[in-house]
Parts: sequence; C-alpha cells; structure tokens
Amino acid sequence: MSGTEERYNRHHILEAIGKDGQKRLSHSKVLIVGCGALGTHSAEYLARGGIGELRLVDRDFVDWSNLQRQIGFTEEDVRNGTPKALALKKHLEKANSAITIVAEPTEFQFFNAEKLARDVDLIIDASDNIPTRFLINDLSWKLSIPWIYGGAIETRGHALFLSGRDGPCLRCYMGEPPPPGTLQTCDTAGVLGPAVAMVSSIQASMAIRSLTGEDPDLFCGRLFRLDAWKMDWKESRIESDPECRVCSRGSFDFLDGKGQLNSESLCGREAVQVHPRTPNDIDLQALARRLESAGKVECHPRYLRLTTEDFVMTLFDDQRAIFDGLTDASKARSLYSRYVGD
Ligand SMILES: [Zn+2]
Repeated sequence: MSGTEERYNRHHILEAIGKDGQKRLSHSKVLIVGCGALGTHSAEYLARGGIGELRLVDRDFVDWSNLQRQIGFTEEDVRNGTPKALALKKHLEKANSAITIVAEPTEFQFFNAEKLARDVDLIIDASDNIPTRFLINDLSWKLSIPWIYGGAIETRGHALFLSGRDGPCLRCYMGEPPPPGTLQTCDTAGVLGPAVAMVSSIQASMAIRSLTGEDPDLFCGRLFRLDAWKMDWKESRIESDPECRVCSRGSFDFLDGKGQLNSESLCGREAVQVHPRTPNDIDLQALARRLESAGKVECHPRYLRLTTEDFVMTLFDDQRAIFDGLTDASKARSLYSRYVGD
C-alpha cells in the first residue's frame, strides 16, 4: 500500500466514506475561524482525515489557560507566545504533511472575511463571540458557503449546520445580537474540556459527511445541544424566519462593517488590540531594527515582538498589534502611533 492508501485506509474501508468520499475530501477546502478549543479539535480531525486544504484563522497567541483543553498546543508555545494559528499549523503538519495548511494570524473581520473564505467549501465556526458568528452568517449567505455554528460553555455545548442557500440562518434563530457584555463566556464561567471536544467532534463529523457529498444538507437547521456532565442530549429544529434580515432580505450588516465587534479589549486577559487606521505593507525586519532602542525585539516571519518594562507589543504582518500588560485603549493607540506610525 502507498503512504496515502495506508494513511486513509480506515476511511477507505468505511462504507460511509470509501475511496470516492476520501477523494472528495482531498479536494475540499475548509476555513476554521478561531484556533481555540473548538478550532484545535476540529482541525485535528480534518487534517488527519485528509481535507485537502485547511485555512486556520486566529488573532491571538497561546497562553497557559488554553492548555487545559486546546489540543496540540504545548508549554513551549506559551513560553514563546506563539500565535495560535502558527502553532496549530506546525502541530498539524507533523500529523499530515500531505495536505495544505494555511495559517492566518489575523482577526476575522468584515474587511478580510471574503478574502479568507475565497474558494472554501465550508466554514467551521470555532469563534468565541456572537458578532463574529453573525459575520460568518452574512458571508455564508452572500457566497452560498455552508457553515457549522458551534459553541461550548461550562458543561454545555451546541452545534448547528447551516447551508447558506436553503433553510434557516443564524439570524432566524437568534434575531438581533445581544448587548455586549450580557453573555457569559468561557473566561467568566469556565468550560469542561470534553464538552468542547464533543461539540467539535459533531462539527467535524458534519463537515466530513457534507464534504463527501452524501446528502450534504441533511443536518441543515437541526440544532444539537448536549450537557457533558448530565449526559443530556437534545435536538430541535430551527425554522426559517420569513422576515429575516439576512436570508430573506439579503442585507449583510456585519459583512458591510455596520455591526462589528469592539475588538480593542481581548476577552479574559489584560491586553489591548490596535488595528491600523490605513493598512499598508509593512517591513517587519526594518521596523525591528528601528525598535531596538525601545526594548528587547524578536522578529519572526509573520510578527515581531517588543518587550519593555511596561508592556509587550506583538505586531503582526497585517499591522495589527496586541499590547499585553495594558488595559487602556487610548494609551495603546498612542504607543502604536509612536512605534509603528499611522
Ligand atoms: Zn435567516
């Protein structure tokens, strides 16, 4: 048997997939939005399962509180402050070097969403907030790309496949976004590792099934909810809303930039994110040389890091910066102007 034959043998002999199904998987492209607990688990199964191209998007880097449930990340990644998308790519390439893995250490935003989703067959939601999900929902309906909504908090989780063409969308289910700060997050309420793994296993199973082409919209609009502590499992059906802004009226507020998240503060830690006012190309190496008088500078291919006594600034090649050790957004903005310009 060749390496590929042997690698995917358990899919080849599986009646539900077979060699034809595996071939379809190898020609599929999947965008995973978020490389936290949901993203790392989904990516693990999809990479090992032979999805042709995985695109991994995450804005943040690995920290100690991630290691409890985000598989693939190591203590070394925390010590090095490695961006999650890059750390996950490195980890997955060790498991499957035969597929394409693209890491994008950037924030999934209205201005880059269409570019990041170009040519993909499916989007997996592994984000941690409602505005990002509404943005994925807009994108899905605008470009007719199916996506799989997922979430987990405490011991509970849920997953929902939405086709982007027929049936309901996320706005049919949720309506208007809740006011910021009114929902609990994993950072305030905690989360059980296996609960996330269960949700992402559902997402990965749905993804594989849909991409093999067997009744691809079978799960459309069926909301699966579970409690991994009580071992409770429920399924309900989401109905299409004939008045829905997105799937009935075709207005994409979040993709048009009218419903964006406040992305200055980073959930769960003392850090502020700054976006460039006018994105331009940036020469990280030249900037690293200029910053040497300001503190300790490390320059990597996709980002540089400046460590001073007061803060640590990580500047990515999309010109976005994260200031660790700061909570004051205006101070971060003025430091950004001083060190990066703009
Ligand atoms: Zn809708």
